[in-house]
Amino acid sequence: MEVKNIIFIAPPAAGKGTQSAMLKKKYNMVHISVGDLLRHEVSSNSEIGVHVKGLMEEGLLVDDKIVFRLLEQRFMKNDCSNGYILDGFPRDLDQAIEYDKMSKRLHQPIDYVIFLDISKEEAMRRTTGRISCPSCGAVYNEYLDTFAKPGFCNSCSAKLQKRSDDNEITFNHRFDTYMMKTQPVIDYYKQKGILYVVDSGGSKEYTFSQIESIIGGEAK
Ligand code: AMP
Repeated sequence: MEVKNIIFIAPPAAGKGTQSAMLKKKYNMVHISVGDLLRHEVSSNSEIGVHVKGLMEEGLLVDDKIVFRLLEQRFMKNDCSNGYILDGFPRDLDQAIEYDKMSKRLHQPIDYVIFLDISKEEAMRRTTGRISCPSCGAVYNEYLDTFAKPGFCNSCSAKLQKRSDDNEITFNHRFDTYMMKTQPVIDYYKQKGILYVVDSGGSKEYTFSQIESIIGGEAK
């Protein structure tokens, strides 16, 4: 497959992380998450890290200047020549417009913007059902998975736990806020003719097959 650069736009629980990992594994693409780049700065206690720590803890957006500086440094690395998947970016229309300029300058244009479309009901079911194992890190969905002993990890038998922010009220807010803020970005890429909508409400294999048919060059 020739080199493709992809942006994923996906509401919470649409499966962006899973699909990125599948693409990375099969096509050796690089997965660039702005959140990860920032967390790396925080953990290495760099000047940027010290500056952004508080903002990130409050869930506020980090200044564009910093985000673009980190992204540019990342794009300069050789591994990006196999194609990259950009995750958590652009968060708003200003970033999308600025990113166009940067990607032209670096000769790394975006080929596909893939919107992982999921109904709020299904995303809610995935989120509120999420339970994980504090011992081995396995993640399950209490509504969708089967258990040898309900409430306990299939691999190591530890008692499973629910994250406190995986509740209906928090989820509703996160989902609505995401869609409201992202709609202008979706419209922007639609106008440019590079937006592709994938039904992400089914199995991860079904979602992946749709993505593959898009990046393999099939119909929009
Ligand atoms: P995430 O890992 O995508 O949940 O992002 C974690 C945090 O990093 C966010 O709450 C923001 O503080 C920051 N962040 C991630 N992506 C961006 C972005 N594109 N622009 C500004 N800040 C961002």
